[in-house]
Amino acid sequence: MKNVAIVLAAGSGSRMNSDVKKQYMLLNDKPLMVYCLEVFEESKTITDIILVTSKEDVESCNDDIVDRYGLTKVRAVIPGGKERYDSVMAGLDKIRKEGGADYVFIHDAARPFVTDDIIERLYEDVVRTHASVAAVKSKDTVKIANNADYVVSTPNRELTWIIQTPQTFSYSLALEAYDKLREEEDGLACQGIKVTDDAMVVETWTDHRVRLIEGSYENIKVTTPEDMDIALAIINRKI
Ligand code: C5P
Repeated sequence: MKNVAIVLAAGSGSRMNSDVKKQYMLLNDKPLMVYCLEVFEESKTITDIILVTSKEDVESCNDDIVDRYGLTKVRAVIPGGKERYDSVMAGLDKIRKEGGADYVFIHDAARPFVTDDIIERLYEDVVRTHASVAAVKSKDTVKIANNADYVVSTPNRELTWIIQTPQTFSYSLALEAYDKLREEEDGLACQGIKVTDDAMVVETWTDHRVRLIEGSYENIKVTTPEDMDIALAIINRKI
């Protein structure tokens, strides 16, 4: 069994308005990205971790994150790319070079509160469905709008989900989808398509269905400064 967590930490974190990149910002004295890495490290399902970071941070990540926190499952710290999907492709390429895998768990380093329960729910499902994504039902009504912010439609709230990570796929399916994305990458910008998650890549470039699996409302993505306060409140509640 080889199940690889691809942990994405190569974003610029520009919405955080901070000099320190958000993945390195301290939450209770621990860098944000260490929280999820420790959950994958402890997981009985995850065998390997690939940490994707920006080129200039590869060395410091090895020293200050992997060595310092004793993360023995991290097989490589590799540079990511311009878009999130470039960083995912870098992770998949690394796995390909190392002889492949059974399943990949693609996760945003900016989501510190992934849990072992979520990983196990995903794993139980992905071995049957090959594509399972953590998500929660939307508590709010969601509207689809046009470019001028006028409402176009209102999807049924019962069927509206907020998508999280980990996003879990059999390795071969993820590779097939991302290889096709790579072939058609040049056309994406022209068509105004922005690839924002991995499920979208599988939905668009394969005919495979993607299953939504219950994540958790605490599995937030820390994006803006107020999210740091929310994250701290979640930690304090857990302690
Ligand atoms: O920008 P977004 O919120 O979608 O980023 C989600 C995750 O993907 C973050 O953890 C970020 O560090 C990572 N990312 C990446 N490479 C990029 C852009 C984002 O690894 N080029």
